[in-house]
Amino acid sequence: MIAQQHDVSGAHFAFTDRWGGVSAAPYDELNLGGAVGDDPQAVRTNRELAAKAIGLDPAAVVWMNQVHGRDVAVVDGPWAGAEIPAVDAVVTRRRGLALAVLTADCTPVLLADPVAGVIGAAHAGRPGLVAGVVPAVVAAMTEQGARAARIVARIGPAVCGRCYEVPADMRADVAETVPEAWAETRWGTPAVDVAAGVRAQLARSGVRPDGPAGTDGTDGTDAQPHICTLESADHFSYRREHTTGRLASYVWLDG
Ligand SMILES: [Zn+2]
Repeated sequence: MIAQQHDVSGAHFAFTDRWGGVSAAPYDELNLGGAVGDDPQAVRTNRELAAKAIGLDPAAVVWMNQVHGRDVAVVDGPWAGAEIPAVDAVVTRRRGLALAVLTADCTPVLLADPVAGVIGAAHAGRPGLVAGVVPAVVAAMTEQGARAARIVARIGPAVCGRCYEVPADMRADVAETVPEAWAETRWGTPAVDVAAGVRAQLARSGVRPDGPAGTDGTDGTDAQPHICTLESADHFSYRREHTTGRLASYVWLDG
């Protein structure tokens, strides 16, 4: 259910694993993605279960329609209307409102400036990394009053650079924009390390890679020793399973 939770000065970060929900295979069990072919009622139930587990009102969670871009929306409540805007990052100043990122290998990035009361969440896969969704969300938070040096960042479970094999020309393209993402698989072929790229972009945006001193005992942007979704049987992995569920990463401020 909730694999990890961190609290830093009134900001909360939570990450799910795949267990504890009601979805049938291949979405078993806690699929939180609404656009992957799973039964919508199961997804609704899973979202309620996950919210309850972290003490949130399920109606106070903002989900994105993620499209691997760099657009950021500033929100002060759940989307009005049926159409969910296509964005890969959201920012809010609304206390008690949670921002959620859906992933199954892509890198979820959660950010909070607890002093300014501004939070952000971004979905960074390889295309989003190259497009610059991470600097874009930091910039949007800054416009809302956050200060980069105060931002606490957490990166959730994602495929690691030792597993994410890509063609050599694709690695070269990514590394042209984000050199730190250049990687090699453990079997010696070209790879991309999206999380390493995200950390480098955070640092260039003025967000200290090790984050301001946390009160939670952690000292890194990683939620914990980094979980590789492809290597973990407890997490959904698109690369491993293709048709599969989505994990969620949540950030919110005390209401
Ligand atoms: Zn791995």
